[in-house]
Amino acid sequence: MIAHEIQTATNQPVFSERLLAWFDVHGRHDLPWQQPRTAYRVWISEVMLQQTQVATVIDYFNRFMQRFPQLGDLAAAPLDDVLALWSGLGYYARARNLHAAARVMAAEGIPDSLVHWLALPGVGASTAAAIMAQAFDAPATILDGNVKRVMARHAGIDTPIEQASTIQALYHVAKSHTPTTRLADYTQAIMDLGATLCTRGQANCARCPVSTDCVAYLTDQVAQLPTRRARKPIPTRRAIFLHIEDDAGRLMLIRRPPSGIWGGLWCLPEYTPIEAQELQQSQHSESAARQAMLSQWSFAVQGEAVEIAAFEHRFTHYLLNATIERVRVGTYSYAQDTPDVRWFHVCDLPAALPQLGLPKPIARFLADCSVPLEE
Ligand code: SF4
Repeated sequence: MIAHEIQTATNQPVFSERLLAWFDVHGRHDLPWQQPRTAYRVWISEVMLQQTQVATVIDYFNRFMQRFPQLGDLAAAPLDDVLALWSGLGYYARARNLHAAARVMAAEGIPDSLVHWLALPGVGASTAAAIMAQAFDAPATILDGNVKRVMARHAGIDTPIEQASTIQALYHVAKSHTPTTRLADYTQAIMDLGATLCTRGQANCARCPVSTDCVAYLTDQVAQLPTRRARKPIPTRRAIFLHIEDDAGRLMLIRRPPSGIWGGLWCLPEYTPIEAQELQQSQHSESAARQAMLSQWSFAVQGEAVEIAAFEHRFTHYLLNATIERVRVGTYSYAQDTPDVRWFHVCDLPAALPQLGLPKPIARFLADCSVPLEE
C-alpha cells in the first residue's frame, strides 16, 4: 500500500471544515429522511441505501412512510405487506431483517448506542455509524461505498478496495477526518461528496472542496483509484418457472421459502432443469423433473408444457438464465388457497400485483400477461 504524502497548505482549514462549508451551500438538505430526521426514518433510509442509489430509494422511502409512519406500524404489519412495498428494490433479506428488527425495537425500544444498533438484524458497522451520526449527532465514522472511494482517492490508497487491510486503512483515514461537532451534517456531506462530485465515473475535481490536498487529483490518478481485484466471471444457473393456469383462467403463485434468493416473495413455482450431460446418465427426462415438481399438488395436467417467455437476471454471485413454461391444469378451487399458495384470475392481476411482494422479473412478466394468453 502506498499512502502518498502531500503537504497540506498552511492556514488551510481541515478536511471537515472545508467539506462542511461546501455542504452548507451545495449539499442535499431536502432528502425525505432529513425532515424530520428521527432515528426510525434514518434507520429505514440507511437500510434502503445499503445497496441502492438515493434517486431510487426516495420513492420507496416515501411509500414506506405512508404505509408505516411509525415504528409500531411496521412492527405490527405482516411481513407480506413489507415485502410488497419492497418489491423491485432487491436484496430482500434487507426487508425481512427490517421487519424482524422493528419487532425487537417495538418490544425493547429504539437503541441510542452503536453497540445496540449493531445487535439488530441487518445493521452492520457502517449503517449503525450512519444512524448514530445522523439521528443522534454522535461521533461515529461511516465507511460506505461512496466514502471508501473518496478516502481512497484523497489519501492515495491504491491497494484493492475489497482487501481487509485496505478497508482498515480507509477506516483510519475516514476516522481521522471525522469532526467532533456537526456529525449529522458531516456524515451527509461526505456521502454527498461521493455521490455528486467524487463519483465512480467522471469525478468533478474542479468543484471539489478538498482537492487542494487530494493525492489522486494532485498525482493524476483519479481515474485509477480506487483499485479493485480482478473479477472472476460469474457462473450461470438455469431455472424454469411454471405458469400454471387452470381451465378457468386462474394462475398459481407460491410463496418462496423464507430464506435464500427472493426469500418470502410470491413467485411462479420454479424447478431446476436436468443438464444435458446429466440427462445422458439419468433415467429421468426433463418432463419427469417437471412432473415430479407438479405432483406435490395432484394436478390433472392437460397437454404439453409450452415455453412462453425467457429472461436473465443478474444476482451478485450468478446470472440466472430462466425460461417460463405454461402448463394447463384442470380447475383447482379457490378453496385450496393456502398461506403459501394463491390463485389469481389473470384479469385480477393488475389489482393484485401491487399488493404482493414479487421478484422484479416475475412482476414484469405477470404485468405483461394480465390478459389471457392465446393458444
Ligand atoms: S479532488 Fe477529485 S478525486 Fe479528490 S476527493 Fe475531490 S472529487 Fe474526489
